[in-house]
Amino acid sequence: DHKATIIDGKAIAQTIRSEVAVEVRHLSETYGKVPGLAVVIVGNRKDSQSYVNMKRKACAEVGIKSVDVDLPEEVSESELISKIHELNANPDVHGILVQLPLPKHINEEKILSEISLDKDVDGFHPLNIGKLAMKGRDPLFVPCTPKGCLELLSRSGISVKGKNAVVVGRSNIVGLPVSLLLLKEDATVTIVHSRTKEQESIIRNADIVIAAAGQAMMIKGSWIKPGAAVIDVGTNAVDDSTKKSGYRLVGDVDFQEACNVAGWITPVPGGVGPMTVAMLLKNTLDGAKRVIEK
Ligand code: NAP
Repeated sequence: DHKATIIDGKAIAQTIRSEVAVEVRHLSETYGKVPGLAVVIVGNRKDSQSYVNMKRKACAEVGIKSVDVDLPEEVSESELISKIHELNANPDVHGILVQLPLPKHINEEKILSEISLDKDVDGFHPLNIGKLAMKGRDPLFVPCTPKGCLELLSRSGISVKGKNAVVVGRSNIVGLPVSLLLLKEDATVTIVHSRTKEQESIIRNADIVIAAAGQAMMIKGSWIKPGAAVIDVGTNAVDDSTKKSGYRLVGDVDFQEACNVAGWITPVPGGVGPMTVAMLLKNTLDGAKRVIEK
């Protein structure tokens, strides 16, 4: 009975966090400066608050200075923009992260384009995404979750070059940038989305599957090519009366089934999730190094 190798995202993320901590200490000892990350949150959505707390805590653990900006739900677009301009100008801030989603009355696209390119640690600025898409250009920052997916592959010894990679989903924050990254790394990339016909046969041709559709367990074991590497970004809450919370998290892939077919697979939770925060720390460090070591 074949069993896939489980890629331990939590352990890999922890390794990266330790690596970042070592470099932060080195910067501090050599230049007397530490990286700073501004984490901006607007309003009091529970999920956003818990993500933000996680990010701030992770900064503290590796010695990155977290600059907390908490704004009320009613803040105006222009007030938020002036706050961002202030952070753009602050030399102690090397990265600016605006937690999404923003309240309806604020134009997300507009806000993201106000972040200084060299502090865009989320990598969502259209110019950074544009450079990611172009041959021979390197963006200053690559979005954290997509970068985390590639890091999981490389640290598991899975090469991407020349492989058939299928990405399920085409969102601005995951599907599209992960496709562009795989292409940069010389994979042959196919993108499957909600209008794609014959998804199953396309996915069955993949040496590497990146699932980011947000559809609980839509990818069955029988859809996976034997030996394929499966990176499951999907994080879906499904009802579970045996849990105190009343729900549990599952991926976009049927994990139990896929384990019998795939060569490698990431669990949910404990796969891609922890990598997103680790990559945010890494991006902040890299941004700070560009400034401090110059
Ligand atoms: P999203 O903005 O809702 O995008 C979903 C994408 O999947 C869209 O491109 C959509 O196609 C496609 N899709 C939806 N249903 C599909 C189907 N049945 N077959 C094929 N494609 C389908 O979601 P997202 O923000 O990219 O997030 C995707 C998943 O990743 C979610 O579960 C989210 O919670 C998770 N996530 C995890 C992390 C993390 O672990 N750190 C970070 C971000 C997101 P169309 O474009 O045609 O609508």
